[in-house]
Amino acid sequence: MQALVYNGARDVIVTEVPDARIERPTDVLIRVTSTNICGSDLHMYEGRTTMEPGRVLGHENLGEVIEIGSAVDRVRVGDMVCMPFNISCGHCKNCEAGLTAFCLTLNPGTAGAAYGYAGMGPYEGGQAEFLRVPYGDFNCLRLPRDAREKENDYVMLSDIFPTGWHCTELAGMRPGESVVVYGAGPVGLMAAYSAMLRGASKVMVVDRHPDRLRLAEQIGAIPIDDTKGSPVEQVLDLTAGEGADRGCECVGYQAHDAQGREQPAMTLNNLIRCVRPTGGIGVVGLFTPEDPGEIPFDMGTFWNKGQKMGTGQANVKAYNRQLRNLIHTGRAKPSFVISHELPLAQAPEGYEHFDARDEGWTKVVLHPDG
Ligand code: NAD
Ligand code: ZN
Repeated sequence: MQALVYNGARDVIVTEVPDARIERPTDVLIRVTSTNICGSDLHMYEGRTTMEPGRVLGHENLGEVIEIGSAVDRVRVGDMVCMPFNISCGHCKNCEAGLTAFCLTLNPGTAGAAYGYAGMGPYEGGQAEFLRVPYGDFNCLRLPRDAREKENDYVMLSDIFPTGWHCTELAGMRPGESVVVYGAGPVGLMAAYSAMLRGASKVMVVDRHPDRLRLAEQIGAIPIDDTKGSPVEQVLDLTAGEGADRGCECVGYQAHDAQGREQPAMTLNNLIRCVRPTGGIGVVGLFTPEDPGEIPFDMGTFWNKGQKMGTGQANVKAYNRQLRNLIHTGRAKPSFVISHELPLAQAPEGYEHFDARDEGWTKVVLHPDG
C-alpha cells in the first residue's frame, strides 16, 4: 500500500510499504479516507524524537471498515468509523475508568499507545491506504449516515476536538467563566471552540499568527497578539485586573518568544500570571519526558495563587461520542480549522508548509482515496 513514511528529520516520503492487515482476532482493518497532519506529528517530523525511519505516521484517522477479525462482534464491514488517537485495551484499571490515554496494558508506565507515534508502541499510522486497529470493537467510533457528507468534521473526533474539550475540562471550566487559551494552532482553536460551546462568558486566544488569530475571532473569541504587548497585561486588562477564571495551554515545550527563541516554560508561566488566584489551568500542549523534561516553572507564583493544573494526553473516548452527536445535529462544526485537503501523494508538501506555520496553513487533511 502507499503510505507516508518518516525518513529522517524534515524528511517524509510517500512510498510502498507492506499492506496493513488483521494480525489478531480482535483487529479491525480500515480503508482510510481522511487522515490529518497534527502538531504532534511535527515533534517527529522535526527530528526531536526517537522515531525510527520507515515508520508510517498518522494518528488522526477516519475510514471504512473493510475486514474484521474473528473476535470482533460490534463493528461491521462497511461501517464508517473514526479512531481515537489513543489505542487502548478497554479492560485495564485506567481504561475502565475512562482514562484511555493511559492504558496500562498496551504501553505501561508511559502515556499509553497511539498510531504512528514515537515512544507510544509499535502501531503503524494511518497516513496510508489502510490501517490496522487493535481491539477494534473498543477503538472504533461508529459514525452516522452523514459520515461522508460531514467527514471533515467527524475526522476531528480522532484528536483535536476532544483534546481541546479535554483542556477546558482539565482547567475545571464552568459555564459563565472567562477562559484564556495560549496557542491558536488547531488544538488551541478547538479549546477556544469548546469553551464557547460550554458557555464561557469570554474566550481570549493568544498567538502571533494573524491568520490563526482571525479564525479565533471568527468563532467569537478575542484575539490577543503577543507581538503587540505583553499577553499577560492584555488578559488582565480584559478581565478588570482579576485574571481569567481558566487557562488552557495548547502550545507545549516548543513555545517561543517574539524573537523566535524557544522558551519551554513561557506559556505555563504566563498562564499562572494571567489566571486568577485559585483558578484552573489545563495543559494539553506536549511536555515530553525526554524533551525537555525539567523546565524553569514558576512554582512560587503558582503556589501563592493557589491554582490547580491538570495535564496530559486527552482521553479521547471520554468525549468523542457526545462530540460526534453535536456534529451530527449541527451544533458543532470543527472543520472550520481546515485550510487544506490534499491527496496522500502531496503529504510531504503539507508537512513542510504546516511545520513552517506558513500563512494560511492551519490544518491539513489528507485523503488517501483521492
Ligand atoms: P501548532 O504548532 O500548529 O500550534 C501551536 C501554536 O502556538 C502556533 O500557532 C504558535 O504560533 C503558538 N505559539 C508558540 N509560542 C507561543 C507563545 N509563547 N505564546 C502563544 N502562542 C504561541 O500545534 P497544534 O496542532 O495546535 O498542537 C499544539 C500542541 O498540542 C502540541 O504540543 C501538540 O503536540 C499538542 N497536542 C496534545 C494532545 C493531547 O492529547 N494532549 C493532542 C494533540 C496535540
Ligand atoms: Zn494529533
